[in-house]
Amino acid sequence: MRVEEGVRLSRYTTLGTGGPAGALARPETLAELEQALAWAAERELAVATVGLGSNLLVADDGVDALVLKLGGELGTAEVRGELLVAGGGASNAVALHRARAAGLGGFEFACAIPGTAGGGVWMNAGAYGGEWAAIVERALVVTAEGSGWRTPAELGMRYRHSELGHGQVVAQVEFRLVPRPADEIKARVTELQAQRKAAQPTNKRTFGSVFKNPEHELSAGRMLEACGLKGHRIGGAQISPKHANFIENAGDARSEDAVALMAEARRRAREQFGVDLQHEVELLGPLELPSR
Ligand SMILES: Cc1cc2nc3c(=O)[nH]c(=O)nc-3n(C[C@H](O)[C@H](O)[C@H](O)COP(=O)(O)OP(=O)(O)OC[C@H]3O[C@@H](n4cnc5c(N)ncnc54)[C@H](O)[C@@H]3O)c2cc1C
Repeated sequence: MRVEEGVRLSRYTTLGTGGPAGALARPETLAELEQALAWAAERELAVATVGLGSNLLVADDGVDALVLKLGGELGTAEVRGELLVAGGGASNAVALHRARAAGLGGFEFACAIPGTAGGGVWMNAGAYGGEWAAIVERALVVTAEGSGWRTPAELGMRYRHSELGHGQVVAQVEFRLVPRPADEIKARVTELQAQRKAAQPTNKRTFGSVFKNPEHELSAGRMLEACGLKGHRIGGAQISPKHANFIENAGDARSEDAVALMAEARRRAREQFGVDLQHEVELLGPLELPSR
C-alpha cells in the first residue's frame, strides 16, 4: 500500500478548499484498508476518511492524519437480490445507476446528494423525505481493532447524525430496496433533479447545507435570508444569492473565509431569532467555529 505525503485536499472537496493531508492512502480492498489502519495505529496517527468531500470543510493548514480515500472494490456497487451492496467509497450516482438497472427503487432521493455510501452513513444523509437510516440494512465498520456489521440503530443514526467517529471506516453498506420499474425510477429522478435545480445553486462549488434546520417555523435558509445574508461575501466565499443556507466558492475561497461567514450567519440568527444554528458540514483539521 502506497502512502502519499502532502496531497492537497482541495482536490477532494466540492468547495475546492483545504490544505494538505499529512499522509494519504487509497485502499482498494478490505485487506488494504486494514493494512492502512494498522499503519496509522503503529504511528499513533489519527485517521479520517474522505468520500466525495461534499460535506467537508478542511482546514487551510491541512490535516495531521492519515486520510483515506476508498477506491477499487471499496468504491463499486452491485445488486444482490433486493439488496444494493455498495462499497463505502461508491458514489451515490453509481449506486443509483445499479439500482435502477436492476429495477430496484427506494434510492431515488439520493440523486440529490452528491456523496458516497459511506459518507451518507456518517451523517445519515437524506432528501425529499428519504434518508439513509430508512433503507440501510447494515454497514460494515472497520477500525484498527477489528471490524463488524452495524444496523442503523447501532450506528445511532438520526437527523443528519450518526455516532461514527474518525478511525471508524464504513467499508461496505447494504441497502434494502424494493422492486420498481426502471422507467418510474428514471421519471422520479428527473423530477427531483428539476426541483433541486430550481431551488439550490447546483452549478456552483458548495458543500451542501451549511446548517441543520432548527426547531423553528423557519428553515435555516429562510432564517438567514431574513437576516439579509444572501450574497454576503467574506474573502472568496459567498452566501449563495439563490439559497441562504449554501456557501459558494466565488473564486479563490479559503476554508477560513467559509468559517468566518458561518460565524457571522450564526451571530445574526442568534441576534434576530434567538436561535443557535448547528452546522451540518463536517470540519476537518484545525478549524474552529467561534460559538459567540
Ligand atoms: C450541491 C449539494 C447538495 C447536497 N444536498 C444534500 C442533501 O439533500 N441531503 C444531505 O443529507 N446532504 C446533502 N449534501 C451534503 C453531502 O452530499 C452529504 O452529506 C453526503 O452524504 C456526504 O458524503 P461524502 O461522501 O461526500 O462525504 P464527505 O463530505 O467526504 O465526508 C463527510 C463526513 O463523512 C465521513 N466519511 C466519508 N466517507 C466515510 C466512510 N467511508 N467511512 C467513515 N466516514 C466517512 C468524513 O470523514 C466526514 O466526517 C449536499 C452537498 C452538495 C455539495
